[in-house]
Amino acid sequence: MRYSDSMARSAEHLRAALPLMTQQRAALHPASYAVWYEFVSGINPALNQSLNAKTAGGQTLDEAQTWALYREHVCELDPATGERISAGLSQVLEGMAASAAEAGQQSARFDQSLTSWVERLLDNPPQQAQAQVLQELLSGTREIRGALSHLQQRLDSSQEEINSLREDVRRARGEALLDALTGLANRRAFDLQMQKCIEAPHADRDRAPCLVLGDIDFFKRVNDSYGHAFGDQVLRAVAQTLKGVAGTGGGSPSTASTADANEANAALPARIGGEEFALLLPNGELQKAQQMAETMRASVAASRIRRGTTAGEIERVTISIGVTQMAKGETADSFYARADRALYASKRTGRNCVTVLAA
Ligand code: GH3
Ligand code: MG
Ligand code: MG
Repeated sequence: MRYSDSMARSAEHLRAALPLMTQQRAALHPASYAVWYEFVSGINPALNQSLNAKTAGGQTLDEAQTWALYREHVCELDPATGERISAGLSQVLEGMAASAAEAGQQSARFDQSLTSWVERLLDNPPQQAQAQVLQELLSGTREIRGALSHLQQRLDSSQEEINSLREDVRRARGEALLDALTGLANRRAFDLQMQKCIEAPHADRDRAPCLVLGDIDFFKRVNDSYGHAFGDQVLRAVAQTLKGVAGTGGGSPSTASTADANEANAALPARIGGEEFALLLPNGELQKAQQMAETMRASVAASRIRRGTTAGEIERVTISIGVTQMAKGETADSFYARADRALYASKRTGRNCVTVLAA
């Protein structure tokens, strides 16, 4: 159960959440309440971190930001749980189908034995009464077999239903890992992939995972000057560029909904914060990661994002990027922190550039 607060405690949270909610620009709907309830109760540290970052310096949340927080941190289907439920259900059904098939075979064998028994009896001087009884037994067995075969059919169709249910769970799990605005992997998917990178053995130091972190320059100004909707359009355009770069340099671009072994080695382009993007290369080469970062930077700088329909109204944005490679035995935090330092070095040295920090 997600919420286990008592009546009194939940009432306290309500009192604390209401004034915070009403200070925002978003409407007072249940999704907004869920976000603020979880915030004041402190049960969701990742939400609190993200929300604190978004409201730092007195900023308030608008509708889109509130929904994004809700989708990313509240309305989620824990991937491991979803997978466990679907695998468990399927196992049970497969077991039942196997038992029914086995029972059907047994009954068929019994039927065969009876048939030959009756035939032998009928060939020999008959004891009509006994043969009659055996005939009845035989027809009874056939009925049983018919019933079992019907059961088998029903189980087969249940199996199909379970498969489609499983597909729904898989899709929901995928959606829980996608950023709704850009379609890229979200922070959660990025963290999961990062964890896999940390756990996978990397014997060859030169092929250790690489991380490219990008942050759009002066994005606040874009929002302030042209509005949040245009800001969103810019985010989608930058995400498209990142997808293109990931597709050309690190295997096929990964969507968070597919999590098989091949995908584990694919480059993962992700939106990990408001205007922050990442490209995680599980089998990286620092030089290649640097080239991809440079391609990304140059493509964003060269792109012109149209505002409205007037040809003249075209905006230019730039992105600052940091790149690094994982050191042997390093934690995810330390790996990420170095990429972040590289990114901020790019910000300090004038933005629209790439900084590489070796491990
Ligand atoms: P810097 O070059 O130092 O990175 O400056 P900046 O303005 O990009 O950085 P800052 O952190 O001051 O501002 C980030 C802005 O991103 C503020 C916030 O309103 C905006 N933002 C965050 N998420 C979204 C979103 O989903 N859509 C839009 N349109 N804006 C967003
Ligand atoms: Mg930023
Ligand atoms: Mg920025």
